[in-house]
Amino acid sequence: MIKKVISIILLISALMSLTACGEKELNKYQSEFLMLFDTVTRIVGYSESKEEFKEYSQIIHDDLKEYHQLYDIYNDYEGVNNIKTINDNAGIKPVKVDKRIIELLKFSKELYEKTNGKTNIAFGSVLKIWHKYRNEGIEDPENASLPTDEELKIANEHTNIEDMIIDEENSTVFLKDPLMSLDVGAIAKGYATEQASKMARDSGLHSGLLSVGGNVRAINNNATTNEPWNVGIQNPDREAEKSVIEVVKLDNSSLVTSGDYERYYTVDGEKYNHIIDPDTMYPSKYFTAVSIISKNSGVSDALSTAIFCMPFEEGLEFINSMPETEAMWIFSDKTIKYSDNFESFIKQ
Ligand code: ADP
Ligand code: MG
Repeated sequence: MIKKVISIILLISALMSLTACGEKELNKYQSEFLMLFDTVTRIVGYSESKEEFKEYSQIIHDDLKEYHQLYDIYNDYEGVNNIKTINDNAGIKPVKVDKRIIELLKFSKELYEKTNGKTNIAFGSVLKIWHKYRNEGIEDPENASLPTDEELKIANEHTNIEDMIIDEENSTVFLKDPLMSLDVGAIAKGYATEQASKMARDSGLHSGLLSVGGNVRAINNNATTNEPWNVGIQNPDREAEKSVIEVVKLDNSSLVTSGDYERYYTVDGEKYNHIIDPDTMYPSKYFTAVSIISKNSGVSDALSTAIFCMPFEEGLEFINSMPETEAMWIFSDKTIKYSDNFESFIKQ
């Protein structure tokens, strides 16, 4: 985890200058900051001056910071009721929350229904167990172990999303089941990326690329070429010569990848990743990585987790039935498969 006290913009650099676009001269800038969503945020964009770009970066930073605090399940912030506050009050009382929490939870419930329960933000009780075993296993690999079926089964009785009671009128959320908890890790980053990119666009950034730990959202296309942005998909095989396995073209759309290669632990030589299939309560082992392209990075994030938990044929059918949504699967033997129209996004 990145735990440095650097939440300000670290770096703004001009990447290219004097690029003509219509009558205005646009320069390409880039900024980067840490600390939000425990990952690195990168912004690339075209604007007329460094000062202007700095403003956009600041707007995105400040917006993401608020989302980060609201959607945090581990930490408290003074004066903020967040997802952790909701969890802490499970079975006790409704918690008054910001509209942005209500919106995220409503969105998550929609995606739960769309994905037949594969992405379930009410899966916290089971995810917590894996989280604990994973952390202990990473800390002390010799003694790494697996949760017992019994403890998983008991926890799994407290994962009913219908027990999350949203009162929009009063802007409160109540978890009816005292033993349940919300984990928005599969959706929040992509959802917040979507909102922050909207905010930047509304503030005047007309050409940009926002990446929050690999959740990528393109704001329009690349202003200099008038072509889509080129975005690399990381090769899950870290030892491979090519660090980027595919470059895709994004025009006002998003790319999100879920993989088994960043967060996992090992028990008796076997890898256990951090994406848990609600139907088995075990880490999903179908693929090494799944990437989703769709217009909305919140949707892409939720689907990347869901598709990661579905057998290929089922996921393929699911994705092909969704308009303007594409997927790429990477299997552990390095085979790559695509949904019907994914290849039209690949840069040749
Ligand atoms: P990441 O954010 O690590 O790139 P994901 O978007 O796939 O990857 O989210 C994984 C996180 O989502 C896990 O760390 C966990 O907190 C949570 N999670 C894991 N499995 C599920 C699931 N089936 N439904 C909902 N949330 C999940
Ligand atoms: Mg996800």
